[in-house]
Amino acid sequence: MKTKILSLTFGLICGMSVFGQELKTENTIHDLIQQHTNTIYDNLIKMRRDFHRFPELSGEEKRTSEKIAEYLRSLGLEVRANIGGHGVVGILNGGKPGKRIAWRSDIDALETDFPDSVDFKSQTPGVRHICGHDIHTTIGLGIANVLSHHKDKLEGVVYFIFQPAEESFEGAKSMIDDGLFDIISPDEIYGLHIAPMPSGSVVVNPELVYAYKSIIEISLKNTSDLDSIVHYTKNLVSGFQNVQPDSKFWDSRNLVDTHVGIYNPNTIYKDYLTVNNNFNVEQSENQVKLSTVIMSSDKKHLDSIPQLIKEAISNSRYSDKLISVNYSKEFPSVINDPNLTNETIQIITKLYGEQSIIPIHGVIPNSNDDFAYFQHQVPGVYYFLGGSNYEANMISMPHTPDFVVDETCIKTGVTYFSSMIVERLDKQ
Ligand SMILES: [Zn+2]
Ligand SMILES: [Zn+2]
Repeated sequence: MKTKILSLTFGLICGMSVFGQELKTENTIHDLIQQHTNTIYDNLIKMRRDFHRFPELSGEEKRTSEKIAEYLRSLGLEVRANIGGHGVVGILNGGKPGKRIAWRSDIDALETDFPDSVDFKSQTPGVRHICGHDIHTTIGLGIANVLSHHKDKLEGVVYFIFQPAEESFEGAKSMIDDGLFDIISPDEIYGLHIAPMPSGSVVVNPELVYAYKSIIEISLKNTSDLDSIVHYTKNLVSGFQNVQPDSKFWDSRNLVDTHVGIYNPNTIYKDYLTVNNNFNVEQSENQVKLSTVIMSSDKKHLDSIPQLIKEAISNSRYSDKLISVNYSKEFPSVINDPNLTNETIQIITKLYGEQSIIPIHGVIPNSNDDFAYFQHQVPGVYYFLGGSNYEANMISMPHTPDFVVDETCIKTGVTYFSSMIVERLDKQ
């Protein structure tokens, strides 16, 4: 594919004679990226299936990380391993000085007893890649292969971060705590997650991606009337939920429904606050502690809840029992940099067509990604890459028993994001 915005053109010039005139066509870097991706595609599929056959849980990604390090070394990258557990970083120095860009892939798998439907089944009982991190890892390695093939022309440095323990929400923080940003110093960071949209589509939201999530903790004085105060407090906290029990909101398949899902500006996935009604109740001699998870699409709304609970208890017949109400834990959320989102969308749509990126609306509930920790330190964008093939009944909804991915999305991921990184490096 050729476009006008291509900033780098390479020397592959072929002469064509048409009606006696010599015409010249140039293969741009982006043509070469597509060609090279096609060349390595079969090998990438083999590699993905190998990761799928040998999945490893959060914190146990020894084999996976060794395979990653070995592959990156074979491409000539400088490799640092065992960062924050089984984290691996590959450093690709371009031929000229310039910007520094990081690409993150998560590498761990999940516990599940649901049978694997593919031919290349997981060989580890009870463990399987049902969140697509085998695809993420393969795309990260594919981009490393493509860009290393053209490293002499790159202006700057590309860091490939392979992060363990995403599912436990610990790996990103462990890598940072273990000095990741002393080893690398990216100006921008990018990453993706497989999603149930059609294979090859890229979906992105220019701001908050996942709902804010906090754990509320309410401490009360112990009382002989324990059942009654626990019942009252659970009802009180649950009453702040503003999503009806019979709402389509609760069925995650509706996320991609064209009427109520995230493609629609009037999506039901906005302006919500949910309370998990599975409270944890801890009783000691002097006090009882209730805690549960509250999620919201709106940080201010979420932050207002402890005070509202405090006021309600203070005005109830249990007022003398109140000790404290606060969030005992607040999780960071994935928040995309609006400028980088818009600029990178423009790069991809100009190169690969308007249909290549689908904007989304609202905020996705009940999910998160510890990519958020990286974004706290470095501006970046987290994309969704469609992995479904509806005709073939392949639906890539992460964490569902039938999760399966149309592998053609690997080609799209490697091509689009290799091109995007090249263009970002070129933009000083
Ligand atoms: Zn997951
Ligand atoms: Zn995941």
